[in-house]
Amino acid sequence: MRRTAGHSGTIRPVRRGRAYAREVDGEQLEVRRSRRRHRTVSAYRDGERTVVLIPASFTAAEEEHWVERMLAGLRERERRRTPDDEALAARAARLSTRYLGGHARPASVRWVSTMGRRWASCTPSDRTIRVSDRLRDVPDDVLDYVLLHELAHLLVTGHGPSFWRLLASYPRVERSRGFLEGLDHAEGRGRSAEPEGLPGG
Ligand SMILES: [Zn+2]
Repeated sequence: MRRTAGHSGTIRPVRRGRAYAREVDGEQLEVRRSRRRHRTVSAYRDGERTVVLIPASFTAAEEEHWVERMLAGLRERERRRTPDDEALAARAARLSTRYLGGHARPASVRWVSTMGRRWASCTPSDRTIRVSDRLRDVPDDVLDYVLLHELAHLLVTGHGPSFWRLLASYPRVERSRGFLEGLDHAEGRGRSAEPEGLPGG
């Protein structure tokens, strides 16, 4: 156990083959060693996880140095993106007030680049909403629909009648769903009825 500059909390190494999975401040961190790598190090976010790729030949000290450096780099890039996220959060707050009586109060609303097939997600346990970067250029009313959809999940999980009643006052639900289905179809990913790509809906 040790503390690392730049973030507090314990780091718990868990051996998993040649990869380490560890937890930093509740964030999942995975360090993968590759024999094909020589001096190149890279890092990326993969959903909830952060993956750092390092050469197999690195010593423990080199690993520690580079992991911290790469995490700092990722955080810096994310910090620079913050104005976008603030605008998204403000937009979500306006939608919650207008259509949900202000009852949906997310802790954070963020753009993410690692959603895979999904357009957006909501984690009610920590009240976070994530929206795929791929929706940056969709029409405003479609993005509003997606935000409202995820906001509504803070109040009701699943896609039952009580969920859709929450969205009843938003006039462009069907049009927005149609737009997203068309976009899924155009990108060759089949049709997913809802932003989270859940079956049914
Ligand atoms: Zn949903």
